[in-house]
Amino acid sequence: MATLIDNTADKAKHRHPEKRNRVDSPILRKPEWIRVKAPTGKGYLETRKIVHEKGLFTVCEEAACPNMGECWDKKHATLMIMGDTCTRACAFCNVRTGKPAPLDTQEPKNAARAVVEMGLKHVVITSVDRDDLEDGGAGHFARTVRAIRAAAPHTTIEILTPDFLRKGDAANIVIDACPDVFNHNLETVPRLYLSIRPGARYFHSLRLLQSVKERDPGQFTKSGLMVGLGETREEVMQVMDDMRAANVDFITIGQYLQPTRKHAPIDRFVTPEEFQSLETIARSKGFLMVSSSPLTRSSHHAGEDFARLQEARRAQELQELEKR
Ligand code: SF4
Repeated sequence: MATLIDNTADKAKHRHPEKRNRVDSPILRKPEWIRVKAPTGKGYLETRKIVHEKGLFTVCEEAACPNMGECWDKKHATLMIMGDTCTRACAFCNVRTGKPAPLDTQEPKNAARAVVEMGLKHVVITSVDRDDLEDGGAGHFARTVRAIRAAAPHTTIEILTPDFLRKGDAANIVIDACPDVFNHNLETVPRLYLSIRPGARYFHSLRLLQSVKERDPGQFTKSGLMVGLGETREEVMQVMDDMRAANVDFITIGQYLQPTRKHAPIDRFVTPEEFQSLETIARSKGFLMVSSSPLTRSSHHAGEDFARLQEARRAQELQELEKR
């Protein structure tokens, strides 16, 4: 007889002290279209070695991403800068919460070295929220982008940033570092912000995306939504419209997966057919790129998607020229 021990509540106690007193929500069994293989490949082990040797954090590990086996095997990891401890406490996120350590001034250089060592053509950099810093970590983000640019001038850079809420014009510091893709995830529909993303404000996040395009129209903008949290189809379509009004180029839509019993419960598993239908709707709304599937994550296949984004923009520009 096998005994299953559920230790997810214990894990939550250490990583998410603010969730300690939340009611447990049982974790639903995943449908067969969400099952993934445990990571084991040679590429996976090499990526893990480089990441750990450089003392870097990745959102792949911290968020317990289901795509780790596939991505790391292809030497694609998303670096998470500014430490492993977040100052927010979103109900969906598995990244540790608490008081973060001071910034590591060597991190931009180490991140750049890791990019060179892994031979990355496209890198995705994200971070924890750093509400404790005056600029929300914008300066550190910008220094990291510049260090990678200097060390690997042919590598394209995608950033996935916090919202810089109540940090004045700090986001401009990041925009001015000229990443190729500026991603900020809206995560969910506005009605669910208070319960799912309580420290954030929907319209502030939307405005951030819009301001990237206003300041530097050449940068691609990207944003993502999780579904399965209780949102309606109409609400998802409204978010798509809001993103298009903010000139977002690329939308990603993926299934929310509950990290522990203390996190927000899954309302339902959205079927692959529904994801396909959301993709069709998003395309009709004019996004340059859409990725919509149960395992879509904002950084999944980011390198291949970047090449497609460039291609889509070229085709659009050509069409506009022909119309003249
Ligand atoms: S999808 Fe993104 S977060 Fe997940 S393993 Fe791949 S690179 Fe990491």
